[in-house]
Amino acid sequence: MLGSQAQLCAAFFHTERCYEAEAAADAPVLCLAPSRGSAASGVGSAGGDVRSAPVTCERQPTTVLVALLQRVQRDGEDPEPPLYECRYTNCFRGSVADTLHAEQAMMADAALLKLLRAQPESADPALVLTMYLTQQPCHFASGRVENARVTGQTSCTHALIEWRRRERLVERGVDLAIRVSRLFRAQWTDDSAHQDQQSLAVYGGRAGRARDGLRLLMRAPGVSVSMLNADDWRLLLGLCDGATQRSQLTLYRHEHSRLPDGWAEMEDADEQRAAFESAWVDKAVGTEVVVAARVAADTYYAELLNGLQHTPFESDRGRGAGGRAQQSGPRESGSASARSSRSRAKRTK
Ligand SMILES: [Zn+2]
Ligand SMILES: [Zn+2]
Repeated sequence: MLGSQAQLCAAFFHTERCYEAEAAADAPVLCLAPSRGSAASGVGSAGGDVRSAPVTCERQPTTVLVALLQRVQRDGEDPEPPLYECRYTNCFRGSVADTLHAEQAMMADAALLKLLRAQPESADPALVLTMYLTQQPCHFASGRVENARVTGQTSCTHALIEWRRRERLVERGVDLAIRVSRLFRAQWTDDSAHQDQQSLAVYGGRAGRARDGLRLLMRAPGVSVSMLNADDWRLLLGLCDGATQRSQLTLYRHEHSRLPDGWAEMEDADEQRAAFESAWVDKAVGTEVVVAARVAADTYYAELLNGLQHTPFESDRGRGAGGRAQQSGPRESGSASARSSRSRAKRTK
């Protein structure tokens, strides 16, 4: 269902740089199968039994969703096999506005709906629908400065809440557990990291919306949102192809300090890529070690999610710069390390 190490990384595992996380915690950039240039060809090859499976992690703007419908396990009961299991991705249909999101595909899945609708209405929690997602459901927060006018129009957050109401999932005792491998923009709490006023206006505002979307989901009855835990990672690994399951996972860490000065401004694209690729270093081998390292790297994001449970909606605070007052949160504000890392990296768009 999830393919090779490289495909697992592209869909779920890969982590990105984030100023706030780097400043507050050990939040490394991790990959299972980075391209390390011609000098390191063969990296990421797991001897896969899928002949065409990619050997390096090719990040795409793709959201992968694995949905699992299970009975609520009572104390002392053995876990039952899932009632339903399906993988969805988003689908680009010619324009940003027409893109079908993975969550929309799940909500329209006739086989899943049939199982949910067969569930009698009772007060007891009976089923859990777990959504393992690349990133949290969108909430008017996507898009870049260049396409700001036509992007950020969609909210799978609203759509999911409405779908739960329409399908009477609370009445049917169906909880929704959303597990994300990374946050989309919600972690951008430091407005000073944006490069200019235009970036601040677009990305700062959308980061606030991303946090509000998470708040909406977390406060909806029967819905939880958390980062993937070690069990979740083992489950996702179990959905990879046989060769990936049998082989030892290898983890690579990007050592930003190995990038040459002025790396981001290098004009030759090949030279820039080669410099970037040379900064990946071996970190650890072995499934359990790799899973533990990935979960530890999410500590900052897990704390940020917890904090959102209790902080007010940012859309309530009015618009404009005054409305984006910093909430007290887990980030260490204005630390020296935040500023020094900022000077070396730019916002990942
Ligand atoms: Zn990767
Ligand atoms: Zn969406």
